[in-house]
Amino acid sequence: MRPNTQASKHRSSHDTEREFGGALGAICIPIFLPLTVLFLICMSRSPHASVLQWPPPLPSSDELWDPMAPVLLLGWIALHALLYLTPLGKVSEGLVLRDGTRLKYPINGFHGLCISGVLLMLFLGLGSPLGHLFELLLPLAVCAIVVSFLLSVYLYVRSFWAPPHALALGGNTGNPLYDFFIGRELNPRIGNFDLKYFCELRPGLIGWVVINLGMLMKEVELRGSPSLAMILVNSFQLLYVADALWNEEAVLTTMDIVHDGFGFMLVFGDLAWVPFTYGLQAVFLVVHPQALSSLGAATIIALNGIGYYIFRKSNSQKNQFRRDPTHPSVARLETIATATGKRLLVSGWWGLVRHPNYLGDLLMALAWSLPCGFSHLLPYFYVIYFTVLLIHREARDERHCRAKYGLAWDAYCRRVPYRIFPYIY
Ligand code: NDP
Repeated sequence: MRPNTQASKHRSSHDTEREFGGALGAICIPIFLPLTVLFLICMSRSPHASVLQWPPPLPSSDELWDPMAPVLLLGWIALHALLYLTPLGKVSEGLVLRDGTRLKYPINGFHGLCISGVLLMLFLGLGSPLGHLFELLLPLAVCAIVVSFLLSVYLYVRSFWAPPHALALGGNTGNPLYDFFIGRELNPRIGNFDLKYFCELRPGLIGWVVINLGMLMKEVELRGSPSLAMILVNSFQLLYVADALWNEEAVLTTMDIVHDGFGFMLVFGDLAWVPFTYGLQAVFLVVHPQALSSLGAATIIALNGIGYYIFRKSNSQKNQFRRDPTHPSVARLETIATATGKRLLVSGWWGLVRHPNYLGDLLMALAWSLPCGFSHLLPYFYVIYFTVLLIHREARDERHCRAKYGLAWDAYCRRVPYRIFPYIY
């Protein structure tokens, strides 16, 4: 097939919009974020754990490379690719694409989590030193960053063979750096294997909880038993990952799958950023043990529980409404009509704020950091970063919704004035 260099002739109005700082962002982010991952890992493991220490202590080349790391990382990705292809679970259809077709997706990520869990227990039973992941973190992160770059180059090049309707509306600006970063092709597939959907929730997300377990095992090696703080961080984050995989079908209606192309931004986020920065609290706790009172632990568990409840209920309510607005659980909610034929919820969770799911997510993020105490800022990296991410994401979503729903969206905003935090923002 000849590469499709004519795609720029098929642009829509979305194509000229540039996100994440446009071309400048597309140059800076792929340099800055990988360095940030390595910096944060180094800092979390250092005795000072100070983000303000300047110049930061640089790791030696020995610390950055270990031949085990590529073997483990590629083996892990291959295992999950295999589990993806196993005929477990149901097959669901995604939303209707621009050419009128719908893609099919296997809903078996939760099976992948359970099978990896059983395999891990088996390895642990055989005496595998899972705590060694603590020493391997930097080399593993380096490999994940290299894999992210290689995969993004592959995705960019292959996108020139994709038909115009298969390109993401925002990833086809003609600026190679920006398009490489934001992603040209919407749903790149090798046969039936959907690369974006695979990366979104599997190797990185499940890898994150395995790294956490490795940190817990390191604590056991060092101090004989895991601390309460470490158990809480592991349990909260396992719940979050298990929930995402249990509700895997919901990812089919998210911005990442429906709107964004698959380029460096998502590849790096899925394979390097999430597994190596979301669990920094566990890394931090290995070197900085924290004593947690029962009352403190109970308060943190309650906060995580409230956050989870809001997050789950609001996400489920919208998913149910979008899949079947006549379902008894959503049929009695108040809605407003839009010119597209779709309706918007204006009562229930989506009548409280315009993004109740983000509110719940942020409460959980705070609960994950609190077990690390108040002596350092570093374990709060996730909640700070995540607040910025969700405020930015909310603004992006708002732009898309205003373009899609016009006056109806304005009416919704008047009816529900707060975006994420009731009476604050
Ligand atoms: P959302 O689930 O918030 O979906 C936004 C879409 O919902 C809109 O584009 C619109 O799409 C629809 N919508 C908005 N308002 C209404 C309404 N009032 N009634 C009905 N439909 C409405 O998108 P995200 O993908 O951003 O978030 C999904 C979850 O993932 C969230 O819980 C978020 O916190 C989490 N998340 C976690 C991340 C992490 O790194 N941990 C990163 C990003 C997200 P339409 O009308 O077309 O259906």
